[in-house]
Amino acid sequence: MKNSAKRLINSMREKMGTCRPAPRSKTNSRLRRMMWWPTNKPPIMLSEVEAQAQDERLQPGEVEIRVVGSALGRAPGAEVVGIVSAAGEAAGDWMGRRVLVPRVLPCGECERCRRGLVAHCPALPPRTQVVESERLPARFLCALEPPLWQEGAELWPLAALADAAAAPFAALMRLGVEPNQLVAIFGDDVRALFAAATARAKGAVPLLITDSTTAIALTRELEIATQSGGESLASFCEQKGLRPIAHRFVVTGGQQNFDRALSALTDGAAIALLDRLPVHAADLSALVTHEATLLGQEICHPDLYPELVALWVRGELPLLPLVERVKDPRMSSSSYPRLPVVAFD
Ligand SMILES: [Zn+2]
Repeated sequence: MKNSAKRLINSMREKMGTCRPAPRSKTNSRLRRMMWWPTNKPPIMLSEVEAQAQDERLQPGEVEIRVVGSALGRAPGAEVVGIVSAAGEAAGDWMGRRVLVPRVLPCGECERCRRGLVAHCPALPPRTQVVESERLPARFLCALEPPLWQEGAELWPLAALADAAAAPFAALMRLGVEPNQLVAIFGDDVRALFAAATARAKGAVPLLITDSTTAIALTRELEIATQSGGESLASFCEQKGLRPIAHRFVVTGGQQNFDRALSALTDGAAIALLDRLPVHAADLSALVTHEATLLGQEICHPDLYPELVALWVRGELPLLPLVERVKDPRMSSSSYPRLPVVAFD
């Protein structure tokens, strides 16, 4: 036997433990001298997950995610929870983990990212289709593992945290909401309901201003107060014994909700606007009169997600009353009072 063949066999022996020659057969007499079966170890079989991990097509910092839930909210295809099924060389720690994928996955390196303006990062991966698996950079994923996990929970409803709950949560963070402070929410979509639920989870007192009967029905389930107009904020605060500090407003949906918020404005209030609206200069005079602040909030920075997930883990942010499991990714969120989530089993 040539030296090179011996070296090969010796290195195989080292890797495979004590070995014996392959079983004898008439057809493999030459081949069997070159092959060794391990005797003290089970056969080396790469699981499907491990085999995929060695897939060279993944970039070092990339992972492949098997999507478990994909919410049909503001950005269908980009509101996802799943399980990491393959990982690049530098992302091996993510293998097999449950992950919440933030709606926006910035590069974290460019000038805009460094200034915190991640929604405008030029390197955002395009995610506009509901898919069963996708490859993404691992850097800003949020691992849903203990302590950020509720034992026995289902994963798919957490797709609601990718945007529907996250955008209002980020708005409340910027508004600097304090315990026992009024947060008046003007809107009737599922983001308005999540704004109310997250405000309460943060210790504030939410009041949903809406005419929508379906939204009102859901707020009853969540035990959140509602009003059909914003005229009587003062009496609500008095009745609830709220702290006499400047109010915080969150506005979702159409122009009508913003108009209502402006007409209910109080001194020193701050408004977070979650949707793009054709705001007219004339509307803004109320802001000056009341020395109020207006903030635009489109998405949530990936760094804030663990704190949002913690609200759910502690049982302070209910998800199940606000999500609905659906099968068809073509459904529109406007057909549902709750947030539709496509669940893949
Ligand atoms: Zn960037």
